Order: sequence, then C-alpha cells, then structure tokens
Amino acid sequence: MKPCGLVGRSLSHSYSPALHALLGAYEYRLFELVPQALSSFLQAGEFSGLNVTIPYKEAVLPLCHELSPRAAQIGSVNTILRRADGSLWGDNTDAEGFDWMLKRSGIAVSGRKVLVLGDGGAARAVRHVLAERGAESIITISRRGEDHYGTLHRHRDAEVIINTTPLGMYPNTGASAVALSQFPACRGVLDLIYNPARTRLMLEAQAREIPCAGGLSMLVGQARAAAALFSGAPVSDQRAEDALRHMARQSENLVLVGMPGCGKSRVGWAIAAATGREFVDTDHRIEEAAGCDITTLFRQEGERGFRLREQKLLAQLGRESGLVLATGGGCVMVEENEASLRQNARVVFLQRPLGQLAREGRPLSQAGDLEWMFAQREPLYRRFSDFTVENQGEPEAVAARIWEGFCEAFGD
Ligand code: NAP
Repeated sequence: MKPCGLVGRSLSHSYSPALHALLGAYEYRLFELVPQALSSFLQAGEFSGLNVTIPYKEAVLPLCHELSPRAAQIGSVNTILRRADGSLWGDNTDAEGFDWMLKRSGIAVSGRKVLVLGDGGAARAVRHVLAERGAESIITISRRGEDHYGTLHRHRDAEVIINTTPLGMYPNTGASAVALSQFPACRGVLDLIYNPARTRLMLEAQAREIPCAGGLSMLVGQARAAAALFSGAPVSDQRAEDALRHMARQSENLVLVGMPGCGKSRVGWAIAAATGREFVDTDHRIEEAAGCDITTLFRQEGERGFRLREQKLLAQLGRESGLVLATGGGCVMVEENEASLRQNARVVFLQRPLGQLAREGRPLSQAGDLEWMFAQREPLYRRFSDFTVENQGEPEAVAARIWEGFCEAFGD
C-alpha cells in the first residue's frame, strides 16, 4: 500500500498525522503543495488515499474522476481514494464529522432556527447535515451575502449559532465573528475551530451557561470516516472516542494558579518531568526578557509594568499546546488573563496553608498582609480554575495527583 496523507498549503500545525495514527494502521504523511503543484501531484498518484484541506477542497473537484453523491452535493472534496485502475474518487467526510460533533454535543437542531456564520466549504457540509437533521430554518451569515454582519438584528431569535469562519483560530485567538449578547434566544453554540479548544465564542457561551462544543470532535469524526475508507474497514465508536480523548488531552495546556510561594514552580516542574511536557515558569520568562529579577522589575516598572508584561506573555503562551505552565500568584488580578489561560487549558488551583508559603524573592508577599491578599484572590483562583489540589506531601506525589485530575477532566 502506498502512503496516505494530507494535502494543503500550510500544514505545520496539522493534527492529522497524530490522529490517523490512532485511527488506522497505514503510513500517513503531510504533503504541503503550492497551487501550481496540485494537479501534477494528484496525477502522479504516489498515494493510496488523501485528505484535502485549505485551500484545495474545491480545487481538487475537477481533478477527481468520480465524486461520491455527498461530495457532489456539498461541492467540496476532503478525501480522495486512488482506485486500482489509478483513477481518483473524491468524497466529503466533513458532513459525517459534523454530524458526529452535533450528536456528541447533545445540542438539538430539529425544529430550531440555526445561524451559520461564514459561507465556505465547511459551511456547505454543515448546512447539508442541518437540513438532514430537520433544522427549521438555516440562515447563512456571509460578508458577501444578503444576510451579513450588519443585519444580525434580523436574527435575534436564532436558537443555535454555528461558527464556520476561521475567526478565533490559532494563532489569532481571541477574535469572534459575533457577540452572543445579540442572540437572547441562543440555546447552543458549535464552533468548528479546534485550536484553541475553546474559542472566544465558546468561552462566552460557557460564561452564559449555553451548551457549546468545539471542532475537535468534527475533526476526529471526519478523520474516522476517511480512515475507514483508507483501510477498507469501519472504525469503532470506542476507537474514535479514545482518539478524541487522547487528542484533547495532548493538545491542551495544564496551568497552575495559586498564591505566591505555594509551590507552583516545583510541582509544575515535577509534572513536566513525569510527562515529558515542556515546562514554563512565567515569572522566570519575564525575568529573562527583562534582564533582571522580579524584585528589581517591581522597583523599576512598578506592579503595573510587571502585570502588563505578564498579560502579554500569558496571551502568547495560553494559545500554545501541551505545556505545563506555572503562573505568577497575581495573574488572576487581570481579568483578560482568564480567557488567555482557559482557551486551551485545564487550570488547577494549587492550595497551601498561608503559614507554609515561601516569601523569598516575592515582593508583594514580603510587603503585604498575606491573609488580606488571600481573601482578595481566593475567589479569583476558584473562578479561573477547573479543580483544586492541596500542595501537601512530596512534589512528585502532588504532581501525580494533579496529572490524575487533568486526565480525568478528559474522561481518562
Ligand atoms: P473557507 O472555505 O475558507 O471558508 C471560510 C469562510 O469563513 C469564508 O468563506 C468566509 O465567508 C468566512 N470568513 C473568512 N475570513 C473571514 C473573516 N475575516 N471575517 C468573517 N468571515 C470570514 O474555509 P472552510 O474550509 O470552510 O473552513 C472554515 C473553518 O472551519 C476553518 O477555521 C477550518 O479550520 C474549520 N474547519 C474545521 C473542521 C473540523 O473538522 N473541525 C473541518 C473543516 C473546517 P464569507 O466570505 O461568506 O463571509
């Protein structure tokens, strides 16, 4: 069997090789192609099967000798099989992926008014499924259409919002096509973006207690359907669920918050050592960048200068994947840091009795009243975090308890 793989323009952040390794037993490669190379690559046929991503899902249509009915109907191809006679058969598994995402989310669309943001290839697959699942009306919001972002007030009664635009996707996280405050009847939000795990739109839905889901399950669902085509055998629900859990856990950061001197750096380092993850201590990063220690930095730039540096750093690190992050004790005092940290992480509040906190090299702990500081910050640590762990015992044992909680958060 020749290799399978993914064709696209820019693939350095692709999850597909890791995902297909979990779903099938074939070689899977990345084929980064410039547009001029697409046709000759497909004609040369040095592959058994391909996935196709941005910007080629429509460009490959005329290069396929035959299309599946759903690919023809949706008007885009994300999976190609090379048949024994060398001809290319194009299919679209995005619809199957979105159907799985919808089913897993528990968000009902039947009889509801659904707003689809964006009008590209993925939107067509989404609309195909929504129609099959009995949505009452499907409104597409397109910058080029009759219904655009200036006419959203016509659709305040939308009950489900689906983002199919790339707004909010890594590395430009924090952007959102709409604000949910415009849709008081909204009962469900689905975002096709899977990096970060929680886009700004999803964080807003969570804050409003609106059920929501990100695009990783769609990614796994479409890859599962492609894997079945590549290997000629169905992929079980269990295997797809395992792959989804694994990918979610691998891609998210583990963040430690808590009082200054509670042991975040030592425990964070122990988690990284045990799991092979990269460890970043944000205070150390700030010191490195500033060329002086935190005490000097506070003297030179004041707390405000330090907080600005910290906020910028958290915005950068928070959108990365697979890190263990030990944060500074006061990062919860800046509201914007919550979204930066939570967009792609499970956050742990590391707690330790005040009498046991280390104070050395920590200007605010030395200067102030720790009890007052804790009273002010504790609700914020709780708001920022997904679960709490007591820092009692050896760092390695505490690290193991945190890792267990982190894995549990993904259903492991
Ligand atoms: P696409 O064909 O390029 O379409 C994206 C659409 O989004 C465009 O047609 C455009 O619609 C809108 N858009 C683009 N830039 C925008 C901006 N700056 N502001 C507002 N709207 C903008 O891409 P696609 O293949 O449909 O993919 C879209 C997104 O879905 C990507 O983020 C992709 O990663 C994600 N996706 C995820 C999965 C998954 O498995 N989870 C599968 C497929 C796609 P208008 O011009 O009509 O406004």
